[in-house]
Amino acid sequence: MLSILVDILTPSRCAACGTPVSCREHHLCSECAGRIAPLPPGCPVCSAPLDDGPCPVCGERRWYLDRHITVSEYRGVMKKMLHGFKFLRLRGLSVILGGLAVKELTGRGIRPDLVTWIPMNKKKKWERGFNQSELIARHISKKLGYPCAPLLAERSKTATQRELGLRDRFLNALGRYEILPGADLRGHAVLLLDDIFTTGATINECARILRSAGAHKVFSITMARADIKRLDKFQFMS
Ligand SMILES: [Zn+2]
Ligand SMILES: [Zn+2]
Repeated sequence: MLSILVDILTPSRCAACGTPVSCREHHLCSECAGRIAPLPPGCPVCSAPLDDGPCPVCGERRWYLDRHITVSEYRGVMKKMLHGFKFLRLRGLSVILGGLAVKELTGRGIRPDLVTWIPMNKKKKWERGFNQSELIARHISKKLGYPCAPLLAERSKTATQRELGLRDRFLNALGRYEILPGADLRGHAVLLLDDIFTTGATINECARILRSAGAHKVFSITMARADIKRLDKFQFMS
């Protein structure tokens, strides 16, 4: 009864196709939900697509994550959902995205004892009104019963990764984050949440910091993986 009233007073639409949806569907119609394609099997450590030879993402660099999982590619329904969540502020999508992450984590037997997220600096969070990764992490925590806490902070006056090419992303990630005062992670297995995985520079740097604060395992999950080859091309063109 209450949801019918909410639908009348605040009608909402599917973030991917624009069809009117009930508030209980959290901005995604069932047809679009069925179109979210899981990633094909890839690297057992970081989920990257594999050709012959070592993994292009984790095979040739110091990797601080025990396991990284990506839910889907950054295109189609997933891309529209993340855009609607971040830029149209459709906060209800955290339920859908969190639900997809829960399914992946349970299906792959990932069992952390603490959940956290990649932070954003205060100015950016204030402008957006929320940190999308935090909302997804809190949904995972609620559904799976693991405690959830902020552990990292982003220093102010750092360039946004989105504006940078491949090489500069790695350099920019270094020194961009710090552990929050008093965080003692000795003996903990931490799950780190981010929305999009592009080069892995940010999530790997945050995993390094969590390990230096004592975490004995660090897992991570992102909702989507951006096409790293496209980033290379963009860099050569610009
Ligand atoms: Zn739809
Ligand atoms: Zn890998």
